[in-house]
Amino acid sequence: MEEELEVRICKICGTEKNVKSFPIVRKLSNGNRVRRHVCRACSSYGTGNNIKTSVKKRVLEEANYLCFFCGEHGTSVDHIIPRSKGGTNHRRNLICACIKCNSRRGNMSVAEFQEYLRRKNSKIRKK
Ligand SMILES: [Zn+2]
Ligand SMILES: [Zn+2]
Repeated sequence: MEEELEVRICKICGTEKNVKSFPIVRKLSNGNRVRRHVCRACSSYGTGNNIKTSVKKRVLEEANYLCFFCGEHGTSVDHIIPRSKGGTNHRRNLICACIKCNSRRGNMSVAEFQEYLRRKNSKIRKK
């Protein structure tokens, strides 16, 4: 079982861990295991719709309730790595965002959305 000796970098916390720390998604017929790219500790924060209230509060407080994208007052949290791409509700995967940015961002990555806002702002200035 060579696979078990491998290490893998967690997509959320960025820590290199033994593959055993990554939950098995499914087993293949050849005996190989397909594992998540998010470690067990990070996975335990869940990928569901409900972000723990304590986690959310901490993220917002650390950001002083300022939206990560536009700097306005923000009361919602947004995922850095979208849940659809394996992101969890871990504190490190969350940023403070205002409702406006949160809903506007949709499926864009953080970088894509920042670029989108930058372009939008420069257009407004030109007018
Ligand atoms: Zn992790
Ligand atoms: Zn915003």
